[in-house]
Amino acid sequence: MGRAARGEKVMPEETSVGPVEVPESDDSAASETPAAKTASIHEISCSNCGAPLTYMQGEAVITCEYCGTTTMLADTSNIVTVESHYLLPPRVGRDEAIGIASAWLEKGFYKSKDLPRRVQWAESSARVLPYWVVRCSGRTMWRGMQKKTRTKGTGDKKTQETYWEPVQGSFSEDYTWPVYAREDDSEFWGIRNIEPGRKCVFPDWGKFIFRIGGSKNAPNSNLLEGKADFSIDELKKYNLHTHIVNGQIVQERAERSARDRIIERHADKANSKATRITDCDTTVDVQGVDLIYVPIWELEYVFQGKTYHVLVDASRQKVLSAEVPVGKWAKATIFDVIMFLIAAVFALVGFAAESGPAFARILTFVFAGGGVAYTVWTAAMKE
Ligand SMILES: [Zn+2]
Repeated sequence: MGRAARGEKVMPEETSVGPVEVPESDDSAASETPAAKTASIHEISCSNCGAPLTYMQGEAVITCEYCGTTTMLADTSNIVTVESHYLLPPRVGRDEAIGIASAWLEKGFYKSKDLPRRVQWAESSARVLPYWVVRCSGRTMWRGMQKKTRTKGTGDKKTQETYWEPVQGSFSEDYTWPVYAREDDSEFWGIRNIEPGRKCVFPDWGKFIFRIGGSKNAPNSNLLEGKADFSIDELKKYNLHTHIVNGQIVQERAERSARDRIIERHADKANSKATRITDCDTTVDVQGVDLIYVPIWELEYVFQGKTYHVLVDASRQKVLSAEVPVGKWAKATIFDVIMFLIAAVFALVGFAAESGPAFARILTFVFAGGGVAYTVWTAAMKE
């Protein structure tokens, strides 16, 4: 029963064996999202231990919280056990996850050193999320035309001429491509930011206008690194066995999705190889597909009345994605560099020659003074 009691789903008063439809007029459904309102709860028995497995309409990858067996409903008549399923074993509870997030909050140019001491930790949720990992390699052959220029003639008759040259090449890359096994990656905060190449660190600049840097893209890390056989006992150590999230996307679809994304990615890469690409052909070879569960802590903190999110990998003990306010000194540094650069340009114009224009000399002091004034103001301001 604990299955559906993970707080995010509606639980029926009674369940009987076999698929059960639950009326949606239940009071507790009123506050649910529209998607959950129309969803109904079903039940099957675990093929290994016989325990009841309840799942929501649309869920198709269901892990038994008693024995850890994963059942996949490939279609209505095709129920299989997922043999290749793994876990990144959790190593931290909530408090340690906050410790990891705090350490992250004080590191780097963009953050205030005393930020961890000034934030208030609020909500937290633990989730054990299902990912398919498609082990494959992608190979691309491309052809195109490269625009080039050359110099013709000599002396006064020298001219620049552009011409096109045919070019071609190939490249290949190995992947352990992760596919989140649920339809909606905005259902839980930060999940969409974990995908390789996506923006995963979001600086909050407030009203500051020169928003330069501070964000980061998610690395193409191998989800299978550090994997262990799926084990309910490992999850129980941190009380996470009741937080397993069922998957909605079956293996076949995950594989297709990985293929599509890799072909897209290779087409983008090919496009950067020549001025014009005329031909691009990518072959994706799939070696295998694994299901891996990733334990994650979603944390919320409040700073100056605003709420920010941090996602911590409970197995590898690192921050996966976060929102963070930019510190006042980072802003002052960026502001000053810009002001002094502008001042330097006017100084060149105004002071290089004896008769430099007066306005340039004045503007030199205006921009340099602006930088100094901003620094003084920053020192005086409370963050
Ligand atoms: Zn079971």
